[in-house]
Amino acid sequence: MSTWIFRGVLMVFSRVVEGSLGSSTQCKYDKSGVYQLTCPHCKMTYTRQTGRPFKTRFQEHMRNLKYNNRRSTFIQHLLEKGQATGKMEEIMKIIHVTRKGRMPNTSESFHIYKETKAINQINNKLMAKRNEIFETLLQHDP
Ligand SMILES: [Zn+2]
Repeated sequence: MSTWIFRGVLMVFSRVVEGSLGSSTQCKYDKSGVYQLTCPHCKMTYTRQTGRPFKTRFQEHMRNLKYNNRRSTFIQHLLEKGQATGKMEEIMKIIHVTRKGRMPNTSESFHIYKETKAINQINNKLMAKRNEIFETLLQHDP
């Protein structure tokens, strides 16, 4: 392989890695996709997708908490647990950076499914019907 081709391959590879992981935390939270909120009290999770920046969505959740707005089951949960909160980086985990569409739907469903199986989710329990593909994925990557 010539040096020129090798450099090209390396560049593409590093772009793929950067794209999937985000080059920095700051940039990552400016993107949209699937996120997971963790209750600082009991570590149960809430998985959702957003077409807007993660940062904006997080601030919205916190505003809802402040004003006792029980719009999401996560906020309902926190209000029941005495409003325990923490930093965005500690509470909000980014699962998948992407635009709204079919992929985030699948990723969102899979993570809700996974947490439901682990009896660790705050989302609506009815959202996780038995799914053979997810079962297979979980067996290979628990
Ligand atoms: Zn909790």
